[in-house]
Amino acid sequence: MTDGAIETVLGRTSQEEIRLVRFLYADHGGIIRGKASGTARLRERMSSGIGHTMAMMAMPDPETFVTLPYAPGAGAMLADLVKPDGSPWEACPRTFLKQALAELAGEGYSMQAAFEPEFTVGVRETSPAAPTIPDRLIPIDDSLCYSSTGFHQGHEFAMELVAAMEEQGLEVEHYYPELGHGQHELSIRHAEALRAADNHVLYRETVRGVAFRRGLWASLAPKPIPDQAGNGTHLHASLIDIGSEGASAGRNAFADATDPNGLSRVGYHFIGGLLAHLPALVALTCASVNSYRRLTPQMWASAYTCYGMDNREAAIRICSPLRGDPASSVNLELKPSDSSANPYLALGALVYAGLDGIRGKLDPGEAVNVDPATLTDAERAAGNTHRLPASLNAALDALAADELLMDLLGPLRSTAYLAVKRSEAAHFSHSTDPYYECFEHFTKI
Ligand code: GLU
Ligand code: MG
Repeated sequence: MTDGAIETVLGRTSQEEIRLVRFLYADHGGIIRGKASGTARLRERMSSGIGHTMAMMAMPDPETFVTLPYAPGAGAMLADLVKPDGSPWEACPRTFLKQALAELAGEGYSMQAAFEPEFTVGVRETSPAAPTIPDRLIPIDDSLCYSSTGFHQGHEFAMELVAAMEEQGLEVEHYYPELGHGQHELSIRHAEALRAADNHVLYRETVRGVAFRRGLWASLAPKPIPDQAGNGTHLHASLIDIGSEGASAGRNAFADATDPNGLSRVGYHFIGGLLAHLPALVALTCASVNSYRRLTPQMWASAYTCYGMDNREAAIRICSPLRGDPASSVNLELKPSDSSANPYLALGALVYAGLDGIRGKLDPGEAVNVDPATLTDAERAAGNTHRLPASLNAALDALAADELLMDLLGPLRSTAYLAVKRSEAAHFSHSTDPYYECFEHFTKI
C-alpha cells in the first residue's frame, strides 16, 4: 500500500469527520464480518493490518474506502486476510479471486462482472406467546410483480437506498418491485470483477443498514419466506480482450455479430467450462442450505444444467444484446447464484470454470430454448441436461469430487470451506421446520 493511498484515506476521514473505519471481509460462511479502527491509529492499521484472531488479520485495500451513508461517522474498506507476517492467508477468499483474475489476464482477458441481487424487505415479528416459534419476516408490501403498488409502498426505503448506493460510488441501473411480497430488485452497473465483488459486499451492507435505520429488516437470503419467490443474485460476466493489438484490443470477447445468439467461440467455450463444473460450482455460488429451497423448477431461479438464449429457466443465460450497443453488451448470466455465497469465492470459481472451458475448447452442446422442466427425462438426457444438486450436501459432494476446483482452492481453503458448509448442513438437518431455516438465514444474510 503506497503512502499516497494512505494519505488519501486519512484526508477523507478527517474531512468527512469519520471516527470509525470498518475493515470488512466476507468469511467462508458468506457472512460479512469486520473490525473497525479508530482514526487516531488508522495510519498504523493501514500499513500493518488490523489484528483479528490468529491468521485473520484484515489488510484493507485503500482503493475501496467509502464513507457509510447509513452509519454516520463510519467508513469502510474491504480487506484481504493475511498472516501476521503480512503474506496472504491461504484461505483468504478475496485473494482467491485475485489469483483467478491473474490467470485470466495470462490468457489475455479481463472480466467485467455484475451481481444482480434481489432482496426482501419486511418487519421482524416475534411471537410473544410462544418464544420457541422462530421469528417471521413480514413483508412490507404484497404488490404484484413489477406492480407500481410496490413502488408506492417501498418508495421512502428505495429512495434512501439509491442515495446510499450512489454516495458510495455504486451506480444504480434499475430498480423494481419483484414477484414476491416485499421483494425488490435494484441492480448495480457492471465493473471490473474484483470491484464488482467488493461492490456486492458494500451492497449487502447497505441494503441491511438502510433498512435497520428505518426499523425494517431487509434480507438477501435465497428464501427468507418459505412460500414466496426466492432472492437470486444472478452473476453476469463478460470478458474483455486485453491480449490483442489493434482493433480487437479492449473489445468484449463474448460478442460476435455473425453468430445467431451474438456469442463468440470464446463465449461458447466459457459456457462449456461452466457446464462442466456446474454441480461443483453451485456449492460456492448457492452456498447455503436455504439456497436449495430456491433452486426449483419454474421459479426463474434455474434447476437444470443447460444454457439458453434469454432462457430464464436455464442455469446459464446468454443475455440478448442491448439495442444500440450489441458489441459491448453481450454477457452470460449464471442464475444458480445467490447472496449466501461468499462473492469472492463464487466469482473466482466462475472465472476458473470458464477458463477451463476456454483452454480445453469445451463444447457446450446445443442451447435449450424451452423450459427444461417441460422436457421428458429422455429429451433432457439426450441434451445432457441434468437436475442441479438438490441440497447443499449434494453440491458439496460434487465440489469435493471436482479435482480442478479443489486444486485451485488449495488445501486449506477447500478444507475450511467444506468443513464450514458441512457443519451448516448438519445443523439444519436436525429441524424439519422451514420457518426455522428461513429465520436463521433472513437474520444472517
Ligand atoms: N427471483 C428469481 C430467482 O430466484 C429471479 C427472477 C428474475 O429473473 O429476475 O432467481
Ligand atoms: Mg429479478
